[in-house]
Amino acid sequence: MPAGSNQGDLNRHLSVHLQSMGLRIEAPLERRTGGAGPAEGITVILKGRPLTVPTLGSFVEQSPYTLQSRNGEHHIFNDGSPLSQVTVPGIPGYYQLTTAQGIPYSSIALLHGDRCLGSTVFQTCRYWNSPRRCAFCGIELSLQKSATVHTKSPEQLLEVAQAALRLDRIEHITLTTGTRADESEEITHLAACCSVIKSQTSLPIHVQIMPPTDPGLLELLKASGADTVGIHIESFDDDVLRKAAPCKAALDRGRFISSWKEAVTIFGRNQVSSFLIAGLGEKPDSIIEGAALLCDLGVYPFIVPLRPIPGTLLEAQSPPAPDAMIEIYRHASALLRQSGLSWEKSKAGCVRCGACSGLPDYERG
Ligand code: SF4
Repeated sequence: MPAGSNQGDLNRHLSVHLQSMGLRIEAPLERRTGGAGPAEGITVILKGRPLTVPTLGSFVEQSPYTLQSRNGEHHIFNDGSPLSQVTVPGIPGYYQLTTAQGIPYSSIALLHGDRCLGSTVFQTCRYWNSPRRCAFCGIELSLQKSATVHTKSPEQLLEVAQAALRLDRIEHITLTTGTRADESEEITHLAACCSVIKSQTSLPIHVQIMPPTDPGLLELLKASGADTVGIHIESFDDDVLRKAAPCKAALDRGRFISSWKEAVTIFGRNQVSSFLIAGLGEKPDSIIEGAALLCDLGVYPFIVPLRPIPGTLLEAQSPPAPDAMIEIYRHASALLRQSGLSWEKSKAGCVRCGACSGLPDYERG
């Protein structure tokens, strides 16, 4: 790690190193093996902050970082030297429950980070069995393993959310989805899920969608109770996007920009976000140029290192080097400060949780 770092720097640099290099597990753990969002790896709480860390990708075998237990506590070691104590959350209480039809609640929604309930509402994507599938995406893998159900109903989501609120003190919800052929059917269902959840809880809800052709669908989501929205371009390097997310490259960049603008008008500044994945082979400047464009629009650029998920088209790749991520986070956090954007102002979703990115740690400068 860089010389002259203070303790705060060391903690946030450690987070970046862990997400880039992975963590070898040498302690007995109860752990998940698949699912949406950070679909492999574990969540650890490092200095009070949740962090998702890869544990299963092939690159992890080379990591100097191990998780070990000592006297009932978990510690991160670097090449055998203790670095930091961490907390490893246990299996959430609501995972023990099932619906009246016998569907495990964990097949309907999973805990992301330590306080976010995440569900992939439609677990299939029109692009999965096509040349346009996103290379980093594992949306249908958990369906193939029967670890989830194809479509989550609004009532199922409400039932699980109420249990997770009661037993695990969740604070917000993320609803994502595979892309349907009919955007109206897709977003109308997401809106119904928001509406039913909001009828019985006050949990803030984040919804992730492709940029809709009909801006009225963004209005519908807002009217149904969605608090924040994610419209993810993934990369601002057009060549990389054509390879990594051909279905998104096929959309005009202008459609993303107009959707971000419409969404900011409806949901407000800082309540709209876009994932930017680092480590897809992009020109390094493209991330910062893209982040600058997003910040100008009031959209939070949620920069994450590539997470190569076993079973996906990119499973053999490694995440970007930690030093490259630290440089990106430093530049991007300066842009966030100039624009008055922050993870803390986001009401719900991946930005609010922050566990898949090191960026929140760099916002303070
Ligand atoms: S559009 Fe891409 S990222 Fe989204 S579900 Fe389909 S394949 Fe996955």
